Amino acid sequence: MEEEIDALVIGAGFAGLYQLYSLRDRLGLSTRLLEAGDDLGGTWYWNRYPGARCDSESHAYRYFFSKELNEEWEWTERYPGPPEILKYLGRVAEKFDLRRDMRFGCRVVSARYDEGANRWVVETAAGERYAATYLVAAVGCLSSANVPDIPGLRDFAGQWFHTGRWPHEGVDLAGKRVGQIGTGSTGIQAAPVIAQSAAHLTVFQRTATYSVPARNAPLTPEFNRWVRENHAEIRAVAESTPNGHAFRIADRNVADVTPEERRAIYEAAWEKGGLQFRATFRDLLVNQAANDTACEFIKGRIRAIVRDPETARALADVDHPYATKRPPIDTGYYETFNRDNVTLVDLRADPIECIMPRGIRTRSREHALDVIVFATGYDAMTGALLAIDIRGREGRSLRDDWRAGPHTYLGLQVPGYPNFFTITGPGSPSVLTNMPVAIEQHVEWITGCIAHLRRNGIDAIEPDPEAVRRWDAHVEEAANATLLSKAKHSWYYGANVPGKPRVFMPYAGGLARYRAICADVAAKGYEGFLLGRTPVARSASMGEFAEARGVGV
Ligand code: NAP
Repeated sequence: MEEEIDALVIGAGFAGLYQLYSLRDRLGLSTRLLEAGDDLGGTWYWNRYPGARCDSESHAYRYFFSKELNEEWEWTERYPGPPEILKYLGRVAEKFDLRRDMRFGCRVVSARYDEGANRWVVETAAGERYAATYLVAAVGCLSSANVPDIPGLRDFAGQWFHTGRWPHEGVDLAGKRVGQIGTGSTGIQAAPVIAQSAAHLTVFQRTATYSVPARNAPLTPEFNRWVRENHAEIRAVAESTPNGHAFRIADRNVADVTPEERRAIYEAAWEKGGLQFRATFRDLLVNQAANDTACEFIKGRIRAIVRDPETARALADVDHPYATKRPPIDTGYYETFNRDNVTLVDLRADPIECIMPRGIRTRSREHALDVIVFATGYDAMTGALLAIDIRGREGRSLRDDWRAGPHTYLGLQVPGYPNFFTITGPGSPSVLTNMPVAIEQHVEWITGCIAHLRRNGIDAIEPDPEAVRRWDAHVEEAANATLLSKAKHSWYYGANVPGKPRVFMPYAGGLARYRAICADVAAKGYEGFLLGRTPVARSASMGEFAEARGVGV
């Protein structure tokens, strides 16, 4: 027997919580939220690895929708860690009485659109069923852990963990020989902390990257007072910048300043720390020569910090422009390689051949290990959605429809899947932004859209395939207009998961521009969307759409 509701939300992170609140308390819809984890928190529920910390500055890493919540909540550090973020989300759930409509330990395995009833029938791993008119996937962009298929892993006699599934009780690494595979944002946060307790840490690096110090610090009462008094301004900045952070990108090009001025600007940004380094010049992500200056500066810093010349060379041997892979920020990452108990293995020179019962064998030698830490990232943006068997009209399957890469309109809806919405889905700025700001915009747009449907007696909405085609092309064009397209091996292109189609997934046109596009679409009566159920007309256009991509319906 199904539980009948108006709306179902999947996922209890920042996105799901706000969507539940918005649909239930603003629109008065009966709404349930299903979450696979045993509590709320989304990415912060799962990511408890050593050194885990948010890379966005806390004063803008929050919801802005509630003045009251803003006034009562104060962060303690420049970058909050999982316990504090979980406390924040817990407070949000308590304040808005969300838990009564949340179900934990419920992994959604399938969602099927029943066209006759205009309902989504959703089933969990335990066999519970829900039927809802609206289905919102708030499943996160970086939640489907990517454990590489390295031969021998099953025979490893020690312990192994993926950072995104870190045991909540912690792992005692004291006295252990730890091997860490991966040096992305996660690995760069984890290594310095692991090195403090492990007997030895071996870091296996496949692609070197550029990291800038985070410079985390406790927040002063003065700063917190300033935050309390300036929420509106902080929000206005975050909502009007390309990345949703509460800092503006400098209005100057690299060539506008002298080499001495440029160096001073980079030095000041390095000292200040954080993702703001990327905002020092407006052309860093569009002009290779400009970008080269940032690369050279950071490489110079790496060489100055790391004492062993060979280790410094490998760490500074970066093969892509700065910030074309997600730029990490760190707390003592490069300094960690000056410790006696830390070794770097450059996998470009000495690739992993297999995992042995007692360690990892690279081409040149065996590395004895007790613990392997996979900081190897995620099947990003599409992984968590495709883990669910999602079936739209006429039984079409999202897994088939996205075989050649995701197709969405605005990252919000998929053609052939009426009343199904994705929060920060592929085709939206999402992972290129400070997530809560992008999430708020999506949740509010979806809520406004559903309100429009109900006000006007419209029973269904889905995108027009033609609008999807145009949006897909625009997403590609936006990436190609930046240097992001020069790092084809990034997870933005799905390159970290073998066999995944190489399509640039997020929208690189900037959050502010994207907001304006979404607002305009809504103002024009949801231009580019098909309103109401008109199956015959739609079937024809869907056939055409699938044909154009060479995918069978
Ligand atoms: P990631 O950026 O995908 O990095 C994964 C690392 O593992 C890369 O160094 C990758 O090398 C390596 N790797 C993957 N498969 C491998 C294999 N088979 N053999 C050897 N090395 C392998 O993943 P992540 O560091 O977890 O970060 C993912 C994203 O999560 C970030 O970009 C960021 O958006 C987000 N994040 C945010 C925060 C925060 O705000 N606090 C913290 C962490 C992560 P290649 O580069 O060669 O593929």
